[in-house]
Amino acid sequence: MAGTRPNIVFILSDDHAAHAIGCYGSRINRTPNLDRIAAGGVRLDNCFCTNSICAPSRATILTGTYSHVNEVQTLNERMDGRQPTFPQLLQRAGYQTAIVGKWHLGHGGIHDPTGFDYWNVLPGQGLYHDPKMIEMGTERVYPGYVTDIITDQSLDWLQRRDRERPFLLMCHHKAPHRPWEPAPRHAELFADGDVPLPDTLDDDYSDRAAAAAAARMRVDRDLGPKDVKAPAPEGLSLPERRRWMYQRYIKDYLRCVAAVDEGVGRLLDYLDAEGLAEDTIVIYSSDQGFFLGDHGWYDKRFFYEESLRMPMLVRYPREIPQGRTESRFALNVDFAQTLLDYAGLDAPERMQGQSLRPILRGEATAQWQRSMYYRYFMHVAHHNVYAHYGVRTERHKLIYYYEKEPAPPEWELFDLERDPRELHNVYHDPQYAGVVAELKAELTRLRREVGDETDPFPVAAD
Ligand code: CA
Repeated sequence: MAGTRPNIVFILSDDHAAHAIGCYGSRINRTPNLDRIAAGGVRLDNCFCTNSICAPSRATILTGTYSHVNEVQTLNERMDGRQPTFPQLLQRAGYQTAIVGKWHLGHGGIHDPTGFDYWNVLPGQGLYHDPKMIEMGTERVYPGYVTDIITDQSLDWLQRRDRERPFLLMCHHKAPHRPWEPAPRHAELFADGDVPLPDTLDDDYSDRAAAAAAARMRVDRDLGPKDVKAPAPEGLSLPERRRWMYQRYIKDYLRCVAAVDEGVGRLLDYLDAEGLAEDTIVIYSSDQGFFLGDHGWYDKRFFYEESLRMPMLVRYPREIPQGRTESRFALNVDFAQTLLDYAGLDAPERMQGQSLRPILRGEATAQWQRSMYYRYFMHVAHHNVYAHYGVRTERHKLIYYYEKEPAPPEWELFDLERDPRELHNVYHDPQYAGVVAELKAELTRLRREVGDETDPFPVAAD
């Protein structure tokens, strides 16, 4: 039975951008254990979230639906656990199921985790040090560092599992989410020297829609003393201050990543020691990407590449060839159906993604998704990011900031081949008129396909 129904270890971190992972070519850190997953399986280079913000991405992963369907569109909604999720379906089919760590989809009644034989989750965002956790409804404080505790609790559950049945373990780390508090053992990592600067640290937001300059997520201006754990030195010029803040921010972020990497290593070691590696699907992903000083920013939300792209590493020696990279599109809305497929289960009609199994296996596919729909709903809240939706193809990205206040609606078009950093909006360039028309038609098609036509789509607007 174990051979036909694989075990699943699904590891999800929070705000971990692919460009801070060694096997994705990171220039700023090393992640030897995450790289083990890639070396033994496949690295997806175009895995995207459909709404780059924490709770909505989690709801999409669980339900296999877009935000407007699962109704977790912003950070203000809690998930209604009565809707179908892939853990519920695996549990019903005889899998033993557990989630440990970050939940962030509400608590109490219909908002508690459903479909899990065991759950032990952080309330809300949770704390880095001595976190409170809610174990099957009962609160308790766990002394220690949150990433280590989540790993310990995950391993404890694996130890006491029923060895006759396949399992699903969802190990959900809080790290490396703000406020980026490292474990004491990593306090001195990166202490010597500077972390390399991103190419777009000094972005001036010219040649973009007004939304970019309006966003309040600038490393030099919007990070506070709590984020960087020290007051900035007096008398710095703005570019000097930007560099100082960046170093403080990125070093703590990467220290938090280091603990996640170690935790992943402990899970992989356990699978090896138990002889489970061959028949266990191991996935590492994060709920979205993150700006690591790119465009002078921290945080996410935008449809821009750094926040859109999710890391996605998948290892399953029984079926997936080793050491491959894959550039076909994958979306967070596809994860549920992918895992149901591996378990031999049909996905409910309501799910809106597709199984990624063919591309994970490296199969040729005559037709595969070549465009994706994105929507960020949380207008001006928190970091003053304007709500927007859009479409990304292999070469282009069209974005529409659709609200009327505080700035009129506006379009952006990027040519990702000529301008991979997304610094030049070519929406008004006559050379791209044909591309604009094609992408607007594709956006209309996608909005209809996923059933998100709640706001008028003003094709004529310019
Ligand atoms: Ca997140």
